Amino acid sequence: DATLLWFRQDLRLDDNPALAAAIARGGSVVPVFILDPGGEGDWPPGGASRWWLHHSLAALATALAARGSRLVLRRGPAAKVLDALIREAGAGAVLWNRRYEPAAIARDSAIKQDLKRRGIAAESLNAALLFEPWEIRSRSDAPFKVFTPFWRACLERGGIAEPLDAPKRIPAPDAWPEGDDLDGWRLLPTKPDWAGGLRAAWTPGEAGARERLSSFLDSGLAGYAARRDRPDLDGTSSLSPHLHWGEIGPRRSWQALEHAAAETPALRSAASAYQRQLGWREFSTHLLHARPELPADPLDARFAAFPWESDPKALRAWQRGLTGYPVVDAGMRQLWRTGWMHNRVRMVAASFLIKHLRLHWREGEAWFWDTLVDADLANNAASWQWVAGSGADAAPYFRIFNPVLQGEKFDPDGTYVRRHVPELARLPAKWIHRPWAAPDAVLADAGVTLGKTYPRPIVDHAAARRLALAAFQALPRA
Ligand code: FAD
Repeated sequence: DATLLWFRQDLRLDDNPALAAAIARGGSVVPVFILDPGGEGDWPPGGASRWWLHHSLAALATALAARGSRLVLRRGPAAKVLDALIREAGAGAVLWNRRYEPAAIARDSAIKQDLKRRGIAAESLNAALLFEPWEIRSRSDAPFKVFTPFWRACLERGGIAEPLDAPKRIPAPDAWPEGDDLDGWRLLPTKPDWAGGLRAAWTPGEAGARERLSSFLDSGLAGYAARRDRPDLDGTSSLSPHLHWGEIGPRRSWQALEHAAAETPALRSAASAYQRQLGWREFSTHLLHARPELPADPLDARFAAFPWESDPKALRAWQRGLTGYPVVDAGMRQLWRTGWMHNRVRMVAASFLIKHLRLHWREGEAWFWDTLVDADLANNAASWQWVAGSGADAAPYFRIFNPVLQGEKFDPDGTYVRRHVPELARLPAKWIHRPWAAPDAVLADAGVTLGKTYPRPIVDHAAARRLALAAFQALPRA
């Protein structure tokens, strides 16, 4: 009989356990992707994610066609769509790779139970993680709350499986079920078409992912530990959207790093530093699995009483990169233009929203969700709560980033600011992170008129810091 292979966030043929298991069943394989925004709970995909998904599905369809197969596109509630396809294809089994978001877990477990009850084989496998969230437990047999011991436990457990190679052929059914036309899903923006910067920056799909990885191994890895905090240097892999959509798996990345370190022992520590970041990705999912309220509620209950401000004007200035703090604005504009922001700047921009503007971290989480091409429920929620100080293993609330000093330290020549805030491009490095302090003659020389060509700071750092600390100190003690 036929096997339905349900693609989700595993949009690749390499190291795809559900695909391998579907082929191993022996019959034909019918690959399907179901657009089911209603099945995503409170988190249907945002604009940048929809853009990415469109191109990634197109790439997957091409890759499947090259192996004698096809991608069947359907839209609607997943359970209903699967039922129809089982009938149409005469399928005896449905296989998929797991997702870990609370809404997906609820939907998928109900589907699995129902299929089994009706005598249809249903199996889910692991394509997305090095370790299943429930495998890693503390000595007291509980989920971890702190990253370092979590990662130590992961490394001690070891046993990361070798990735599976992509199959050469995928057995096709005699007749294909009908599918939707991808363009008809209207995942791409039309008017206005805001995706020009995304198109310039990214190649969604498995081939694009492999290319990123190999160029990072060739030219980024050696300097990774020293350069990863420098937004001006492009020192990170930019693999996050590819990892989120499963266009490359963590096992393949892990193995590539191990090979690089085995070939060039000097790369060992850089490889471990990179693997540790993959560890943060694992940790976020581990947290979300243990605490499904992570995207909505503070893990530290004291923060439920935080007196968040409501200030649509300030929120808008932050979203558009018009706060008057150059490194924050550069980050927010990089995000808007390219769908991605450097991690160091994400931390500074998030801290600015939460602490300088005292707007709820959920406002920032929602904006990132809509604009990031790597928008990921676990990573996004865990990171926002980390910055807010309300998460597990979080930065303490009272540690407030100074956006000027952060800029001067991590973008010392102002290259990053110049790239994304062109109206400041001609300011000397000495003033680029605090244009309001520059002498009038310097501003005039650089063509900057504060309040006109570039905003004055929307809040004063020292005053904002005092207000934030006062609000924090007024919270009930633990
Ligand atoms: P690299 O440095 O090359 O790291 C390799 C991989 O490790 C990344 O691709 C990513 O999958 C993982 N990783 C790295 N840092 C982290 C981290 N701190 N937490 C979890 N995983 C990590 N990452 C997302 O993938 N999706 C999000 O929605 C997201 N939202 C964030 C929101 C805030 C407020 C902050 C501070 C961080 C967020 N991050 C998110 C984490 C991090 O910023 C990105 O993963 C990273 O910048 C991606 O760039 P890269 O691939 O070049 O990273």
